Amino acid sequence: MNFYTTILGSGAALPTIARHCSGQVVNINGFRMLFDCGENTQTQVRVYHQKMQALATIFITHLHGDHFFGLPGLISSMHLCGRKDPIDVFAPKGIRQALETMIAVSGSHIDFEIRYHELTHTEGCETIFENLRCRVKAFPLLHSVPTYGYLIEEKPRGQNPARRYAYCSDTGYTESFLPYIQGVNLLCLESTFNHAFESVAIEKLHCTTKQAATLALKANAKQLILTHISARFKEPEKLLAEATPIFPNTQIAADGSQYEVHY
Ligand SMILES: [Zn+2]
Ligand SMILES: [Zn+2]
Repeated sequence: MNFYTTILGSGAALPTIARHCSGQVVNINGFRMLFDCGENTQTQVRVYHQKMQALATIFITHLHGDHFFGLPGLISSMHLCGRKDPIDVFAPKGIRQALETMIAVSGSHIDFEIRYHELTHTEGCETIFENLRCRVKAFPLLHSVPTYGYLIEEKPRGQNPARRYAYCSDTGYTESFLPYIQGVNLLCLESTFNHAFESVAIEKLHCTTKQAATLALKANAKQLILTHISARFKEPEKLLAEATPIFPNTQIAADGSQYEVHY
């Protein structure tokens, strides 16, 4: 069974030509789910052939602009392209107000149902979505607004063990969510800063390369992808050099890269 993620945007709050704002499409045997929808995600969906109208389930980590400002545009384009199928949007509380306001003040008419699922739990790990192929769970992260990490678990056929993929962005260093993601096959963590900016990372509730690598180590993850890279870092190999002594199986995400969730 195919299980992989396609990174649409690997940058932090300020988009650059090299790195767009957060967004990725997780594909489990043809079922595609969008995680985060920063500005310009709809264009990235097309650039990387992710079939816009096939996206029926969207998960937003938090309501900072670099994670959801692309959503009104994506939904508008889905409508303009003739969508009739409903869409499910999972996000922290506030997403309904934000989207409905954008749709109302712009005089837009959306010809399909948007089903809002606002997340409010402040502790624990809850199953929020399930179908025949997978289960998605959400757990709180440590950030300046309510933020959720997502764990995607496949439902295997036959004797194969279930692979698990966790996406955690944005978060400051905390070990609170590690019990939920122990032993994940693939972990995608934010790493906004390098080690030299550790005090800034602590203040702004983001992670450094070393902190992210430490979290991956403590989670007993099998593989790590670092994303949400600040625009100030132009040389990803230098970030990688800080992470790999702690967690060797690390890669720096790049826009357009695909990462398979290996057994
Ligand atoms: Zn962010
Ligand atoms: Zn944020």
